[in-house]
Amino acid sequence: METTRREFLRALGTSAVVIALNPLELIASESRDKISVDGYVHRIPGDRLSDSFHKDEQRNLWVPVYNKVRDFYSNDFDIKIDLREEQEVNERKLDRNHVAVEYTTMDEMLNNPRDVLYAFGGQEFMDELEAEIKRAQKAEGWDYKTAEAEIFSTLKEGTNKTFSGEGGFGSEISHRAWILPSKTYDRARNDEELVNAYAFSVTHEIGHVLSLEHPIGSGFFSEYGQHNFMNPTGELKDIFSFNFDIHPDQVRQIKQYLRTD
Ligand SMILES: [Zn+2]
Repeated sequence: METTRREFLRALGTSAVVIALNPLELIASESRDKISVDGYVHRIPGDRLSDSFHKDEQRNLWVPVYNKVRDFYSNDFDIKIDLREEQEVNERKLDRNHVAVEYTTMDEMLNNPRDVLYAFGGQEFMDELEAEIKRAQKAEGWDYKTAEAEIFSTLKEGTNKTFSGEGGFGSEISHRAWILPSKTYDRARNDEELVNAYAFSVTHEIGHVLSLEHPIGSGFFSEYGQHNFMNPTGELKDIFSFNFDIHPDQVRQIKQYLRTD
């Protein structure tokens, strides 16, 4: 049980670490790669953004959020966005060119620990999970369900402790991203600022799903500049005005990623 948790937490902690990349090949900029995004909005009682989607179609804030996201990527990619009515992600459809973004709470996200584990560690984590369940069954005399539940509750505890729950995260492995309600973003003075802030989170997490890491250095010293959308944190005034850009190296990296099998 310890091993799974440790590995998982390590993955959480190192998701920001730069992974060695293959040398980027120059790819003709005229060719436009396709990206399809499914946007899921969970029902979160009392949450303004969730309510705007489920209860107030006239003022559905997710339309302008995703319009911003589309505008941001459409300079370099053919991006198509579908806001989905259902809440369950259709994983079978997902691949490098087809990604899912969920607006949900940390609690709800952790109700599907297998999805989260897979997002961070792929099949390796799934295998390790099964091994841990077997070990716990043997050691404690539990049945499968009990052992599984015990391990999941340990994972949940650990995640709640290490992860602030602000922002979100994105996984290249499972082609999925999670966006969580942000207390910081509640400081937006109007709908426009709120839309800009969540558009930043969504573009950033999609960046991770499309293989991008955080740039080296932060703020003014970020390798891709102060306003790069993959900087892990931005200044609030930039977030609320969506003052972000993408670097040509990042465009090339995404294109290379989309064209690799
Ligand atoms: Zn990030």
